[in-house]
Amino acid sequence: MPGNYNSGKRIQIPGGILPVPIPYRVLALVQERNYLFQYPIERLARDIKAAGFSCEQCGECCTQHVTRDIFLLDRDVTELEQIDPDSLEPAPHPEFCDQHGTLYTSGYSIRMKGKNPGTCWFLDKNRCRIYDRRCSICRIYPYMLRRMRDPGGKFRWRRVSRPGKHGHCHCDIPDEECRTLAREVKEYENAFLTQQISFLETIQEYFTRHSLVHDHSKYLKGLLRISRGSPVTVRVYDAGELVEYPRNTRVSPGRS
Ligand code: SF4
Ligand code: SF4
Repeated sequence: MPGNYNSGKRIQIPGGILPVPIPYRVLALVQERNYLFQYPIERLARDIKAAGFSCEQCGECCTQHVTRDIFLLDRDVTELEQIDPDSLEPAPHPEFCDQHGTLYTSGYSIRMKGKNPGTCWFLDKNRCRIYDRRCSICRIYPYMLRRMRDPGGKFRWRRVSRPGKHGHCHCDIPDEECRTLAREVKEYENAFLTQQISFLETIQEYFTRHSLVHDHSKYLKGLLRISRGSPVTVRVYDAGELVEYPRNTRVSPGRS
């Protein structure tokens, strides 16, 4: 059944750029994960100590003013499904479309409510309603460990999001807390990359098994339909399977 999701203009339509073949993308992600493994925990802990970030609880990172979407790891989906299944929607940037017009996306995001800017489903009076059970990315934000290209084309590690633009800097964070944060950030980035790799491998296997091919023209039409809030058929990567959205219950092997 086609489902509506993500009405509004949160997705970018990438014009005529054809996707990079899946095996190359998997290789690039595996390499990225290797770089991540090599980044020493102690160095990241020192970076966190030097940043000395302290949250002022303005709530902006829980809105689209700052965060386009809040992507969920598999374990977050399990948790949020118990709290409120309506809080889940397909991540708003599908990556593939088969010849029948079905879109495929690499996971779920938290549903946003309202517009300009939309706010997280769980934000209430500037406070998180599920703070003790909030999802993985919310636990590490604003820290990250991502290689990104600078304007000169060189890769640099980004470790703090929007440095100097929110919260307080140069606060004294105990060493042990810095090390714990560093471990959590690395663990999150590893889980994120692993999920992306697994999604691509699953797509490859699923398309082969069902004689499907990526249809770029249908893909662009699908993105247009999403941006207009029109119904689309979408399958979401969900714990090793590509599950049609909306789904009744989440049943996957290995998860009880
Ligand atoms: S789950 Fe809570 S902390 Fe995370 S974005 Fe939503 S309101 Fe913010
Ligand atoms: S992490 Fe930053 S944007 Fe988010 S609530 Fe704290 S100060 Fe505000």
